[in-house]
Amino acid sequence: MKNRIQRFKSFFKISPIMLASIFFFVVVQTQAQEFDILIKNGHVFDPKNNIDSIMDVSIADGKILQVAPDISAENAKKVVDATGLYVSPGLIDIHTHVFVGSKSDKFADGNNSLSPDDFSFKAGITTVVDAGTSGWRNFPLFKSQVIDESKTRILAFLNIVGTGMTGDDGQHNLDEMDAVKTAEMIQEYADYIVGVKIGHFDGESWTPFDRALEAGSKTNRPLFVECHLPQYTLEDQLDRMRPGDIITHSFENIKERAPVVDKQGQVLQVVLAAKEKGILFDVGHGGSGFWFNQAVPAFEQNFWPNSFGTDMHKFSVNRGMKDMLNLMSKFLNMGMPLKEVLLRGSWNPAKSIKREDLGNLSVGAVADIAVLSVKKGKFGFVDARDNRIDGDRKLEAELTIRAGKVAWDLNGISAKKFE
Ligand SMILES: [Zn+2]
Repeated sequence: MKNRIQRFKSFFKISPIMLASIFFFVVVQTQAQEFDILIKNGHVFDPKNNIDSIMDVSIADGKILQVAPDISAENAKKVVDATGLYVSPGLIDIHTHVFVGSKSDKFADGNNSLSPDDFSFKAGITTVVDAGTSGWRNFPLFKSQVIDESKTRILAFLNIVGTGMTGDDGQHNLDEMDAVKTAEMIQEYADYIVGVKIGHFDGESWTPFDRALEAGSKTNRPLFVECHLPQYTLEDQLDRMRPGDIITHSFENIKERAPVVDKQGQVLQVVLAAKEKGILFDVGHGGSGFWFNQAVPAFEQNFWPNSFGTDMHKFSVNRGMKDMLNLMSKFLNMGMPLKEVLLRGSWNPAKSIKREDLGNLSVGAVADIAVLSVKKGKFGFVDARDNRIDGDRKLEAELTIRAGKVAWDLNGISAKKFE
C-alpha cells in the first residue's frame, strides 16, 4: 500500500514539471511558426461566419490559419496590404462550359467551351461548376483532359444525356438519358459531381426531366435546369422541381421559355411561390440569358437571384456578359448592397451545390480568397440584347488566391518592390 502511495506522489511530483515543459514547448513553437501569406487591413466579408469588418487573414499550408484584427506580420513570409480593398471567399461560378477539346463548334470536348484558368482567377473565381457539358459517357475524358489539368477547382453538373452537350441527335435520344448510369458515375466521382443537369430537349415527353430527377434523388444531388425546353411550361418545370433544385437563365426573355416577369412588369405568382418553396434561381447570363427588362423589374420587386452563374462560353465571353465580376457589378449598380452581391458570389453558390467546405473563410478551410476593389468612375453595363445601363462602380479582382497560392495579382500587391 505504501509503495502505491509513493508511486502516486511521485507521479504528481513529476507531472507539473512535465506540464510546464510541454507548455513552454508549445509557446516557443507557436511564436516561431512561420506562415505563408498575411493579408492586412482588408474589409473581410465572410457571410458563413458573420464577418463584415476590417480584419487580417493569415494563410499557412494552403489553409486559413487565422482571421482576426491586427495579426502580427513578424512571422509572415509574404504580407499583402489590402487597405481599401474587400476580402471575400474565392468566388464560385456555378454555370460554366469548360469541357474544352479539339472538336469544332462543339461544347463537349470542343472549342465552344473555354479553358477555366483563362477566365477564372482574373475575375476572383476559384471554383467553377461545369453545367452539364459532359454526361455519363464522357465525364472521365472531361476529368483527365480538363479537371486534372487546371488550377481552377472544377466541379460538374452531369448532363442526363450520356454524351453531354454534343449539339447533335444524342441530345434527343431517350436511350442516352440513363438515370442508373448517371447515378453510378456521380457515385464514382462523388468529389467532383455536384448535381444533375437537364438542358436541351425539344420533345413533349417528361422522361428526360424525370430521369434527371431520379438520378438526383438516388445520389442526393440537386437538379440544374437549363430550360432550353420549349415544350415544357415554366410553371410545370417549377412544379416538378424540389426545394434546393436550381433553375438558371432566370432573366431570359425568349420564345423557348416563359419569362419570370409578365407583360405588365410583374413577377409571376408561380415564380414567387417556387422561390418560397425553396427553388434556387441562378442568373445564367450567357449570350442571351440576361435581359434588363426582366432583371430590373424583378430586382425592384425584391426577386433577387440566389447566385451569379455566368454561363461562360465562347459566345458569351466577348459580349455583354464578359465575366462574373461584370455580372456582379450590374447588380451592384442596380442597387444591390455589396454585402449581398458578395454573398451571392461565394457562400450562396457553395450551399446550393452542397459544398459548405467552400465559399467561406473558416479557420482550417481551404485558402481560396478573392481580394476585390470597387472602382469608382463612369461605367456601362450591357445585357444580352445590347441594352445598356450606366453605373458608377465596378468590381475588379486585385488578388486571387487558390489553395494558399497567388493565382492572380493585378497590380503586384503581393510582389516585392523593385528598388
Ligand atoms: Zn449553359
